Order: sequence, then C-alpha cells, then structure tokens
Amino acid sequence: MADRRSTLFGVAVAAALTVGVCRGADAQRSRPYRPAFDVADYALTIDLPDTGSTIRASARITVGRVGHADTLTLDLLDLDVSTVSVDGRAAKFNRTADGIDIALPSRRSTNATFEVDVEYGGAVKDGLIVRQDSAGRWTYFGDNWPNRARHWIPSIDHPSDKATVTWRVRAPASRTVVANGRLVSRKPIRDASGGDRVETVWRESKPIAPYLMVIAAAPLTEYDVGDTACGLAELQRCVPQFVYVAPEQRNFLPGPFARVGEIVQLFSTLVGPFPYEKLAHLQSSTRFGGMENASAIFYADGGFRRGTMRDGVVAHETAHQWFGDAVTERDWPHLWLSEGFATYFAALWTRAARGDSAFRGDMANIRRTVLADSGAVTHHPVIDTVETDLMALLNANSYQKGGFVLHMLRDQVGENAFFSALKEYYRKNRHSTALTDDLQAEMEKASKQQLGWFFNQWLRRPGYPTVQATWRYDAGQHETVIDLVQGAAFGTYEFPITVAAVDSGGGMHRATGRFKPDMTALQLRIPTATSPASIVLDPDVELLAALHVTP
Ligand SMILES: [Zn+2]
Repeated sequence: MADRRSTLFGVAVAAALTVGVCRGADAQRSRPYRPAFDVADYALTIDLPDTGSTIRASARITVGRVGHADTLTLDLLDLDVSTVSVDGRAAKFNRTADGIDIALPSRRSTNATFEVDVEYGGAVKDGLIVRQDSAGRWTYFGDNWPNRARHWIPSIDHPSDKATVTWRVRAPASRTVVANGRLVSRKPIRDASGGDRVETVWRESKPIAPYLMVIAAAPLTEYDVGDTACGLAELQRCVPQFVYVAPEQRNFLPGPFARVGEIVQLFSTLVGPFPYEKLAHLQSSTRFGGMENASAIFYADGGFRRGTMRDGVVAHETAHQWFGDAVTERDWPHLWLSEGFATYFAALWTRAARGDSAFRGDMANIRRTVLADSGAVTHHPVIDTVETDLMALLNANSYQKGGFVLHMLRDQVGENAFFSALKEYYRKNRHSTALTDDLQAEMEKASKQQLGWFFNQWLRRPGYPTVQATWRYDAGQHETVIDLVQGAAFGTYEFPITVAAVDSGGGMHRATGRFKPDMTALQLRIPTATSPASIVLDPDVELLAALHVTP
C-alpha cells in the first residue's frame, strides 16, 4: 500500500491484530499458518443491504487436505454462522471467538479436496468498510490488509495461502460493483420486497492472498482508459484499464491516471507480463493512501476530493500487482519484498517519466526518510522476525530502506544482472509466494556473485553505515586527498563509495573506493589542478549511509 505515514499511523489499531506471526530465530524458516490445509478457491456470495452494514453471505470454499487433521479452522470474526456443510452434508462446527472449527469426515478417498459451505451474516465491523458518503449514499469497500479479511470472509487468512476467488454480489441497482478479476455477468434481479437489484459476478482466475480479495459497491462512475500495454499481458493480449470515481469527481479525470498505460508498459517490460485480467483504479474508503488489491487498486478518497493525488501513488500500487500480489511474501517478516519493491519501482517510474535528476531526487528523499527514522530503522532489521504488531511493519524499513537496498543491489550486481534476476524471480514465483532467499538465489545466479554478506548487512541488521570525511589539497601532487572514516554505531559495512571534488566552475571530479569487510578507514586521491571549492560524498545518491564532510 502507499506509504502515507499520516494515514498509516493515524489510525487507531484495534486489538484484532492477533495472528500467528513467525517468531522463529531463523528468519527464513517460515512456519505454515494452517499446515494441513491449502485453500484452492473461494466462491463468495454477498447480499448487500439497501442501507446499513448488515450483510447476508455464503462461502463455498474448496480446500485441499495436505496433512493429517480432522478439524478445519477458518478465521472469521464478528459475524454469525448459521450452517456449515462439507461436501454437501451438514457438518458439526464450533463457533469460537475468532473462527469456526469444522469437523471433517475421516479421510475416505484418495481425493483429498473437499468443499465447505458456510452460511453466515450480521453487521460487519471491519474488512468491508461501510460508510455513507458526503451525499448520504451508502458505500461498501473491502479493505483487508493485513488480516482483516476475517471480519467478513471465512478464510485461511494468511498471505501464504493464496486462492482464486469468485464474487457474486447482490446490491441495489444504483451501485456499481467492482471486484478482483474479470467481469463475468451483470443482471437485474428482484429482491423479496420487489426492489430493483443487480447481481454482479467477478472472477479472479489467478490465486491471490486473502488480504487482496475485495469488492467495491458504491455509486461509481466508470472512466474507460481502454486497452493498454498490448502484447505485455499474461492472460490476454492487452491490459484493459478503468478508473472508478464518485460522480462528483468525474472532472478530476484522467488526472493522475493519464499515464497508467505507460506505467503498466514500463513494469511489464522490466519484470514480466502483467498478471491479471484487467486493472481498475478506484476512489474508495481504504484507510491507507492506496491499497494494491489484485487487479482493483483502491485509493484514499481525500486525494480525489481535494485534487491532490499524483501519479507516484498510482505507480506504487501498480508495481504491487507484480510484487506483493503476483509474487507474495510468504510471511510478514518479508514484507519488504512487497513494499520495498513498490517504493523502488515508483522511483523507476519517476526516472522513466521525468528523467535521471528527478530519480536522484526521489532516492535522496527515500534516504532522508531512512536516516531520520529513530524507531524501526535503528532498532530492527528489515526482515523483522520479532515484531508482532503487523501495522507496525508499515515502517521506513519495509518501504524506504527496502527500496534503497534494491537500488544498491542493482549497483552491486549491475543493471543487466539485476533485471534478468528480477525477471527470473518473477517468472518462477508468479502466482505463488516467496521469501528473501528466493530473491538472493536469483541475484547470485545472474551475477555469479555470492551475496550472503550483502543481504545480511542490509536486511538482517538494524541501521546503516556512517561515513565521516576530512580532506586537504596536496599542491605538490595536484591532488585532493580525502580521508574517509567509517563509524561503528551499527557495526561496519562493506560498500563502494564515490566522492566528488567540485571545482570553482561547478565541475565534478570523481573517484570511487570501497570499504572492504571490517575496514574503517579509506583514502581517496582525486587529481585536481587547484584546491576544490567543496567535496561531495556520494554525488549520485547510490549509498544508504549517513554522510558528513568536515570542511
Ligand atoms: Zn505499498
């Protein structure tokens, strides 16, 4: 989602964040959430009311039994369950405070897949956000991250268990219903009291994480962007794109969506084919600045109403369709595989759209945010196996430090190896899940380098290096001599560093050196005709470090 700190941290995070987070000492060994089961498909039918938050719903869940277990636990909060059946037969179930324990028939055939039907309903409190807009119209928007799907969808609510999903939504005819995947049908129906309603069916044919499964049902106006990125989509030739906004915001369009075709084209070219049936962009009630729901991105309402929304957030959420959505972090400590990538790819969009100096400006801002952080960055590694408050993982480690680490990784392995490794990482893990080791393996293969040291120092330790520089001019040699000292606040790091001597005409004379393991001092000599006007460390914004020059 979009890094909008005011949004992210301003919300009251209710107590509901109870999830089995990996707390093992080994960051890479991720404990499966429900190891005996694997959901293949959710078929969800939701009856939305004319007003208010009380829904009636049913879920048909196709589950594979992959281990020994005689009870299936589905996550579900708040709502009442009336009946549960397994393969068409009524099943015994126990409604607990946070889920449904369902007794399974003993395994009697080689076919380990079964279907669970759950009839449920009640007043939704979260996950599906129910609100009246400023004109008093009722609106419904899913907003599940990180584990809030369980407020309205009986589910194995963890990113490690991805599944396809069909949405059948019945709502008053005045609402436009949008969801993940492809529009299958839209047909008028009559409700019991004779009111005009519409049943809309959407089908997502690729497995996605529960935190990305959403519907929107609101008085939305469709803006058809048309076919984009032709020849660069996985499921069809082109990527049809749409924007949905409240009728009052129609004049804002295309606004920040003017270049969505180019954005999808850039990322498809850099990484691989766009993974879903379409891409919709919606004005919504998400609590985040933007939320990357698969093929249906939800953006915060305020940016539309105030007209302040820019294409940076669009690029960020669009990048998530590849990173986070198609390739999903298997467990929460690896969230940077989603947010770090979205942060960096938004900067790559800046580079493509506005050039190198704008890109360096983005990277400088990203670095400034990391260096200003005195919480997560200085106390926790990016791969954080200790933090159990999932909302607290929306921090400068997952976003900005993760993004800057990708920038340095590109420098370390070279542009060609970096993007060919990303293409392989995407090709192998698309529609599945990944851990940081999967990325490291592809980078090592493509670059023929051992990169354990790089991933360890940047992702498994808190902090960043600090470099202090002093300099003098050696008139006899016509050289500027720069002495660099690496501090040890967070231990020593291995990295290249470029220094520029700036002459009185503004010309830059560069030299690059490398701090090798455990090296704390480095001297660089730059030939200059006269004493330079100033010294600049890392003039191209390639290094995540606190940099100081003593004049
Ligand atoms: Zn994001």
